[in-house]
Amino acid sequence: MTSLCLQPDWTWTDAGWREQFEVVVSDGRIRSVGPISQAGERLRGRALLPGLINAHSHAFQRTIRGRTEQRDPARPHDDFWTWREQMYRAAMRLQPDELEKVARLLYLEMVEAGITTVGEFHYLHHQPDGRPYSDPDELALRLQAAAEWAGLNLVLLRCAYHRSGFQIEQNPLQIRFLDRHWEDSLAAVERLRSRGLAVGVAPHSIRAVPAEWLAPLAEYARKHGLPLHMHVSEQTAEIEQSLAEYGCRPVQLLQRHGLLGEDFTAVHAIHLLQEEVDALQGCNVCSCPTTERNLGDGVVQADALRAAGCHFTLGTDSQCQIDLWEDARQLDYHLRLVRRQRAVLDSPAGGLSDWLLQTATQGGARSLLRPDLGSVRPGATADLVAVNLDHPVLAGDDPRHLVWAATPACVDQVWSAGVPRLCGGRHPRREEAVAGYRNVMEQLARA
Ligand SMILES: [Zn+2]
Repeated sequence: MTSLCLQPDWTWTDAGWREQFEVVVSDGRIRSVGPISQAGERLRGRALLPGLINAHSHAFQRTIRGRTEQRDPARPHDDFWTWREQMYRAAMRLQPDELEKVARLLYLEMVEAGITTVGEFHYLHHQPDGRPYSDPDELALRLQAAAEWAGLNLVLLRCAYHRSGFQIEQNPLQIRFLDRHWEDSLAAVERLRSRGLAVGVAPHSIRAVPAEWLAPLAEYARKHGLPLHMHVSEQTAEIEQSLAEYGCRPVQLLQRHGLLGEDFTAVHAIHLLQEEVDALQGCNVCSCPTTERNLGDGVVQADALRAAGCHFTLGTDSQCQIDLWEDARQLDYHLRLVRRQRAVLDSPAGGLSDWLLQTATQGGARSLLRPDLGSVRPGATADLVAVNLDHPVLAGDDPRHLVWAATPACVDQVWSAGVPRLCGGRHPRREEAVAGYRNVMEQLARA
């Protein structure tokens, strides 16, 4: 039985910030949280928090970081849709070994940034010619292996993807993503569950999944208590397509087919009318602010959605940055630019700093249906992060407001189910991950 007694200067508990507390861990779980009472591991100059939860990731997109930020002279208009073509080209090139090496580096970067759980929204299923691998779950298993290698807890949100869109000719660059029938998508979910993976159900979007697929996918998720995630209203073109095909807006379509509920997570949920905001009451909204600004998606109306009773979570999505601290504060910063006010999401009761931290932790646990994660309280899984309050970024600041300045560089130690994954801000497998990734990128450059 491994046990730990961590004694940081500050601890962010379920009940708020506490000074000179200890967190006792055994067998992967937090056993007690209270004032220091025994000999333990003193974490001087450190704040202890629950591990951050990244609820939305597409691992393979790490390979285009920094490579899609220029306008092509032959393509003077650059937007989400032109970026998407470049992203598809990257998806077409990766073999299983390469994907695993890419995911190793990405997931290691997540651990170094204080993330202990990722929801991997996985739609790269097949060989480059569209045929299934001899093991049809090959690529999902590679992602799981990479997460285990890096010490990251993974929830595989197995995507259903069927088409390019309403009355849109099939794009050959999407051939690796496609399922012929919703029954094939659910058969894959069944297989992955039987193989012991933590799994969720993810209709990709109303562009990629016809409406008749939605109810069976949602029913399966509910029957088996699995999280249900979907891209919703990231771009205005999706709304135009929905109106053309179904005569209603995306959220109305989801409501009609029974998707909305406390186990449903709408990823992005940017372009909404007030009635759509209201319809999302009780649902989770996963905002991915660093990606949303990178892609020019727009701004999530977090104030209106929160007032309507939505719960928030965060994702790194396109992997242009792995920094959930930044994502958390951008939820408010983006609104400041739009509303020309400050602290938009603060409430008269105060506590915006805590709310943003909750969004980055408990919000993800809620969205992934993992109530054992995301908080420092007895009984919770011991996924923990020690932040270095002596780092120049945070030195002398009030630790209770560290979310406004913290960066991955401030993350000093990480434990996953009580197992140390990071010490002194460095993952022990960093060199190996970097070398493997460089190798993949060099091979791709030569191909
Ligand atoms: Zn996404």
